[in-house]
Parts: sequence; C-alpha cells; structure tokens
Amino acid sequence: MLANSSHSVILATDLDGTFLGGLERQKAEFYQYIQANRDRILLVFVTGRELDITFALYDDPNFPIPDYIIGDIGTTIVEGKTGKPIPSLQDWVAREWNNSNEKVKALLANEPGIKLQSVITEYRVSYYYQPDRLQASTLTKIVEAGYDYLLSSDRYLDILPKGISKGPTLLKFIEEMNLEAENVIVCGDTLNDLSLFATGLKAVAMGNSEPKLIEKIRHLDNVYISSHPGVMAIWDGLKFYEKE
Ligand SMILES: [Mg+2]
Repeated sequence: MLANSSHSVILATDLDGTFLGGLERQKAEFYQYIQANRDRILLVFVTGRELDITFALYDDPNFPIPDYIIGDIGTTIVEGKTGKPIPSLQDWVAREWNNSNEKVKALLANEPGIKLQSVITEYRVSYYYQPDRLQASTLTKIVEAGYDYLLSSDRYLDILPKGISKGPTLLKFIEEMNLEAENVIVCGDTLNDLSLFATGLKAVAMGNSEPKLIEKIRHLDNVYISSHPGVMAIWDGLKFYEKE
C-alpha cells in the first residue's frame, strides 16, 4: 500500500543491526506484528544497502516488503514492491551528484588506507577504510571537491552528493508524500544513521548501537535509546511513542 492518511505510524528504519537485528524467533514475531498492522504502519527502509541486496530479503516469504526504500544511504528512492524510482526525489539526487562516480574514483585513486568496495551504485562511491591509515587530507580533498563523506562502523567510507544522506532524503520524502512528520519514527544503530537522528523526528536508537553514535545522540530530546537490540528495540520504541 502506498502512503495515505490511515497510516498513523511511519516507521522509517535502518536494516542491518536494526530491522534485521535480533534472534530469529524475535524477528519472526516482530515481522508478524508488522504484517498484522500494515494498514496503520507505513514501512520505509532507510538503508546503506544497495537495492539488489535489499530486494534479496524478499526471498523469505515472511519478510515484510516495505512500502518504500530509501537505499544507498539516501541516494536511491523507490517503491518497495515494484522498485520503481520516485522521479522527483531521484532526479534531485541525480542533479546534485551530476554523474560524479568516475571523478570521485580518480580523485581518490592514490589515497592511502582506503579500498574501493565492489558495490555498483549510481549516486555514491563507497570504500572500506583502515582507521589507522586514513588521512585527514583525504577527507579534506573530498569536501573541497564538493562532496560529503560519511565514516561509519570504523570500516566504511562513503562519498555522497553534497547535503544528501539518509536524514535529508527522508525529510524530502516526507514532504513529497505529504506525510505528517509527527507520525514518523526513525530507527538506527550506526553513524550512517546519525543524519536520521539529526532530523529532529521521533527516533529510536538500538541498544546495540555503535558507541560513537550514542555519544553523538544521547543529548538529543527526540531520541529514545532502547536497552534492547535489533527488532526488539524497534518494538520497544513503537510502544514508547504510542504511550505518549
Ligand atoms: Mg545499521
């Protein structure tokens, strides 16, 4: 189902460590709960994954197919069922990125401590990095060339269109779909979710979150830090906000 006014909750959730986190039994139970409430809960994945490996999750017949996917750290925006891009949003990303993949790869070709990931994506370039070898000058180079970068999990370095990541794209999505911002609940667990927490929207941090994320969000009024990991934290967060 696409977005409509009967949705009293818009669950905008990260996948790895979050919607995919927890024991098999917990996930089965939580996914059942989500499926039983689909008329009320609009499900949006906001993930660092590329679309292909997000769609691969659909092979499990009990896995809830989302209404929308904001993938590739905010750089792809599609309908969950059909994989069709949302043109107004996708065009915005494409404009900001301006076919920069080859330019970025050339710019960073000789930088130490980074290794190109094998993912094929249109609107970002992704590397693995070694925390002890990565140079501050590499990051400066990225910014000076007009891009944003994101470091997460002490392992991933993503080069993104300036001003675009999970949070900004979700805000644009909410506006584009005419959704009520106060109905949105975002969930995440690593630094690539920081921009989601920074939106000011109601937010749930996983109990198993990356410590560097918790450090940055613990003072925020819009964040509920669950003591549970994975799906149990999302469930806990939904209950927390529904009680309010
Ligand atoms: Mg995650």
